[in-house]
Amino acid sequence: MNHLVIKSNINHAENEISITSNKYDEIKFLFPYEPLPSFSCHDYALWAILPLAMKNGDHIEIHEPISKRAYDSVKKIANIWYFWIPNFYKKINITAHNIIESNSFEKNNKNLMCFSGGIDSTYSAFKLQQDNIKNVDSLTVHGMDYKFKDTSKFDQLMEKTKKLRNSVFTNSHFVKTNIYAIYSQHKCNPSFTHVTHIFSLFASLSIFEGYEQYLIASDDRLDQQFLIHPYGSNSASNRLMKNSTGNLVTLDDDVTRLEKTKYLAENEFDLNSLSVCGNAKARPYNCGICVKCLRTKSMLLAILDYVPNIFVDNELGNDWFSKIDLTDLNNQMYAFDTLLHVESKNAQDSFPGFDNLRKKLYTAMLNRETNKLKNYTKFQIVKAIF
Ligand SMILES: [Zn+2]
Repeated sequence: MNHLVIKSNINHAENEISITSNKYDEIKFLFPYEPLPSFSCHDYALWAILPLAMKNGDHIEIHEPISKRAYDSVKKIANIWYFWIPNFYKKINITAHNIIESNSFEKNNKNLMCFSGGIDSTYSAFKLQQDNIKNVDSLTVHGMDYKFKDTSKFDQLMEKTKKLRNSVFTNSHFVKTNIYAIYSQHKCNPSFTHVTHIFSLFASLSIFEGYEQYLIASDDRLDQQFLIHPYGSNSASNRLMKNSTGNLVTLDDDVTRLEKTKYLAENEFDLNSLSVCGNAKARPYNCGICVKCLRTKSMLLAILDYVPNIFVDNELGNDWFSKIDLTDLNNQMYAFDTLLHVESKNAQDSFPGFDNLRKKLYTAMLNRETNKLKNYTKFQIVKAIF
């Protein structure tokens, strides 16, 4: 096993926290708009280094104080991913020299929620407002959807979402980090799934010590999570991710993205704050032609019978789905939900390309099942049936 010694460094002059080690490039967290958070343990450092350690089977050694809750939780999560994807993630070990019992940390009776401006976090934020829940702060991480150096686009996102954030959250926090780029550089994501996103987020959340709960909007409804498993942010392993004072709570995993979009569209929510685009050059505005924009545009058309003016290109032609790869399970889910909704309104004739999309989707769904069966021998299938 590779010995990995990590060190957490606090630089008050530069308003920066970093994690250095004997193996990997420096992971930085910067706070351009607020003072450095104060914390008594370095749980964030363990969470931040974990995907790198899992990828390479490291034995992590840390001298800075960490909480018992985080120590236990990091080991549990590492074992889960090792068990789920043993070809990709390896077993890790941790030697922590200063473990602090968790009842010694002060809590602030508040919650901290990840907010990106996409449909999922916008829906969950709007629901908090509707439910009159007031003790929530937000954290937006710069360095994931927006590249570390792309400050002007991130500033535009902050401006676009300001009204919503100010009306829902007590305080809006921002952290700028290169963590996502370091994970990519070391190829910490398996090719068929996306894992590192949740570690980038929970490491960033854990810098803000004291919260009772750390909230993240679910990407998919629970049954849909089963379909795309194993995927980084999921209701099963998220709930086991802990730091000194709180754990990660997945919000709204009982609704699909279509249902979230419908709720926003039908409850007088100002859709102008939505940033759904997958094209880095266009963000935070919505290009209207990338796959993510097309999915959202078609959902909105199915729900409202028109496309609201939140895309640079607002058109949706008969072959709008030709660029959408329906072997991708996420795309299958959206197409399935959208077609079901159109059918429920009996609006098949007015929805562009309905019949062709339905045929293409059902072929892709059947192929998915056939491909699964290919993993078994004829003998195994016959044995399972009889
Ligand atoms: Zn786009």
